[in-house]
Amino acid sequence: MAEKLLEVSGLKKYYPIKKNLLGKPGGYVQAVNGVDFSIRTGETLGLVGESGCGKSTVGKCIIGLENVTEGSVALDGVVLSGMPERQRRKRRRDIQMVFQNPYASLNQRRTIQQIIDEPMQVNLDLSRQERLERTRELLRMVGLREEYCSRYPHEFSGGQRQRIAIARALAVDPRLVIADEAVSALDVSIQSQVINLFKELQEKLGLTYLFISHNLCVVKYISDRIGVMYLGEMVEMAETEELFQHPCHPYTRSLLSAIPLPDVTEQEEARRENRIILQGDVPSPANPPEGCRFHTRCPLATERCAQEKPCRTEVAPGHTVTCHLCGKGGGI
Ligand code: SF4
Repeated sequence: MAEKLLEVSGLKKYYPIKKNLLGKPGGYVQAVNGVDFSIRTGETLGLVGESGCGKSTVGKCIIGLENVTEGSVALDGVVLSGMPERQRRKRRRDIQMVFQNPYASLNQRRTIQQIIDEPMQVNLDLSRQERLERTRELLRMVGLREEYCSRYPHEFSGGQRQRIAIARALAVDPRLVIADEAVSALDVSIQSQVINLFKELQEKLGLTYLFISHNLCVVKYISDRIGVMYLGEMVEMAETEELFQHPCHPYTRSLLSAIPLPDVTEQEEARRENRIILQGDVPSPANPPEGCRFHTRCPLATERCAQEKPCRTEVAPGHTVTCHLCGKGGGI
């Protein structure tokens, strides 16, 4: 089994709320509340959950765009969180991110050559000519023509811009690539092309991905394992096949219930009869519910759920669930 590349332990990210009119501190928005997971070299971990569940904040804490409130992020055994800025800068090339919006993430006033060249100038010891050759090679690698070097972002479609963003992320040979809703802003027909590109590049370059998305179908297609987040906490994690075949947490089951199925097998039909349709909105992370954070929306909630926080249980090898009703052996 491959070595662990990334280890996230007890990660918390709280944002202070400004003092109210009486001058009293306004508390905290608990965006991420004690998340643990690891990613092995060459693996893809998918992170799913509704908008505002904290999955993007996890990505930002890993790459260092946000300081962690508590817990740690370690790459190859070296703890990055809390590392002095100068040391952290030296390790910045190890983790790169591809963002959701290719229209906003590329500088419109720079050519494609300049956009891809910038991280190489900062992080790699290459001559101008070597960087130009590498830019051309990267463009070919992501399925674009090398003559595009001198063009500007506005001359490209959304899918092409995301390919340019991927080329820029790969320019410095990162160990880990975080794709944060990287295909969400694209047309459905283009989404599959870009996902296939991520897969091809992984096979070719041995990349490791953290793939963040609100779309379980997208994550299913690319991930080896999937983590499900709700209101800042990881509620379930398993290998992709296991999660889809034996989902345990009521929240995961509600996400699966919401996926439209064109050709329904008998097994899937049976599962759909037990489907969970969620009611209500996600509570505010500034004032999360006591006990299980999901209890205000969970159709299976009991009195205990409102009072006592559930512990994480391993229901099958590598399959963990945080719910009072899920014991060893899985299932509710
Ligand atoms: Fe639902 Fe209770 Fe399980 Fe939380 S602990 S998911 S409220 S059954």
